[in-house]
Amino acid sequence: MSISSDVRVADSSARRTVSLAPAEANSNGLLFRRHVKPPVSHAELEHSRFLEGEFWRGIPAYSEIDRETFLDYSWQARHSLTTTSRLRHAVGERVSPAFLDDVELGFHQAPMAMRLSPYIVSLIDWDDPYNCPLRIQFLPVARRLMTDHPRTHLDSLNEQEDAPVPGLIHRYFDKALFLPISTCPVYCRFCTRSYAVGSDTDEVKKLSFRVNPDRWQQAFAYIESRPELEDIVISGGDAYNLRADQLEEIGLTLLAIPNVRRIRIATKGLAIMPQKILSDQAWLDAVTTVDQYARKHQKDMVIHTHFNHPREITWITQQALAILHQRGITVRNQAVLQRGVNDTAETMTQLVRRLSYINVHPYYVYVCDMVRGIEDLRTSLATAIAIEKHVRGYTAGFNTPTFVCDLPGGGGKRCVHSYEYYNRETGIAVYVAPSVKPGPFLYFDPLHSLSETTRTRWADEQEQRLMIDEAVQMASAGHRS
Ligand SMILES: *Cc1c(COP(=O)(O)O)cnc(C)c1O
Ligand code: SF4
Repeated sequence: MSISSDVRVADSSARRTVSLAPAEANSNGLLFRRHVKPPVSHAELEHSRFLEGEFWRGIPAYSEIDRETFLDYSWQARHSLTTTSRLRHAVGERVSPAFLDDVELGFHQAPMAMRLSPYIVSLIDWDDPYNCPLRIQFLPVARRLMTDHPRTHLDSLNEQEDAPVPGLIHRYFDKALFLPISTCPVYCRFCTRSYAVGSDTDEVKKLSFRVNPDRWQQAFAYIESRPELEDIVISGGDAYNLRADQLEEIGLTLLAIPNVRRIRIATKGLAIMPQKILSDQAWLDAVTTVDQYARKHQKDMVIHTHFNHPREITWITQQALAILHQRGITVRNQAVLQRGVNDTAETMTQLVRRLSYINVHPYYVYVCDMVRGIEDLRTSLATAIAIEKHVRGYTAGFNTPTFVCDLPGGGGKRCVHSYEYYNRETGIAVYVAPSVKPGPFLYFDPLHSLSETTRTRWADEQEQRLMIDEAVQMASAGHRS
């Protein structure tokens, strides 16, 4: 069949469809076939509307704070809250003393310390703090804490084992994770690195990766000695807390190593204190210098950030991301799936669409790591798989995050769907990681997602062994479920 006859076939079928459903004229007099996609409601475009105005004035401590002060990153840093008594003082009568007592008790049992910027304090819903998705991530409440799954660990990913020098993790073939600093502009309850990040708590004495140029030199020397290392993630801790000159030194030193082709600067700061991009000119210039050096040398620098909920994105975020975009800096997002925060298809889709709207590429959604003290935050693998199904197909493929499980024990990140075997009754998933380590590696659903009978089995050590042996055997026999 010739090309022209093909075209004629397509034409005639199109005409037939039009004649079955008459087109409607829109306000410009243009003709569209409205039935193909019904008009959307205002609510369906919610992702493109950002929290506006001086929203912080609703918090007693910030009611007199003007725009200029609130947009000053150093004011934000100086007024970040690190104790429950400061929090009590800041939110005052907006919240019941009983709730704050519950937070105080929660912190006594928590692996992570407190740090909240005034910006985040202003975004927490103090009228319903128990259910606020921002509160849940940063402030533990004793009443909602749950007993840990018996398989949780402080260093769940076993990072210590893959560290050739302190604060450098070389797990994969061509990429490594560099931890130059152990502090962040916020402390997240669910931090993977609760064994090292932030100050000590009643629960955990931290292994600290403080800023230390001698330790950095050791890491640089190791990276240079390994020609296969092309990709270095600068994490921590958080690169937001490095001084401008430190960030520039680390970035330029790494990019000057011949084998290094790509670096990523990991910071949750954009979600916690976007003010830094608007007012810390030195830091912004340092990032820009590193980015331009990378481009000039045909290398790559990207910022990896960490938004978990669409409400974390405001007009201030939009302005900050516009500046990074104008400077040609690529930003990707890594979110953590958490119960009560973003574990519905609707919230996750909204997050993905809002990030895309401000030119942040949603890169990963992690299943929550099996670290201590956060059983209430974890979701089952089945939840991650179900949500992924709804998110995929909504928007551009390059803005569709991959849902991954960072395998307990150090197998690295795996697409959640790629399990060898998953028993939804016992909550055990078996993965292999041929490019990383032999394995097998196991992920365990949180106890609250399992039946009463199975929870009883998890309380018994012998039963635990039976369930795990069964899963590993089923996997090696080639069963998926
Ligand atoms: C996550 C991670 C990386 C980067 O992995 P990507 O999948 O490329 O984002 C590198 N090293 C370690 C140890 C990591 O945990
Ligand atoms: S910002 Fe990142 S490194 Fe810091 S506490 Fe949160 S998850 Fe951990």
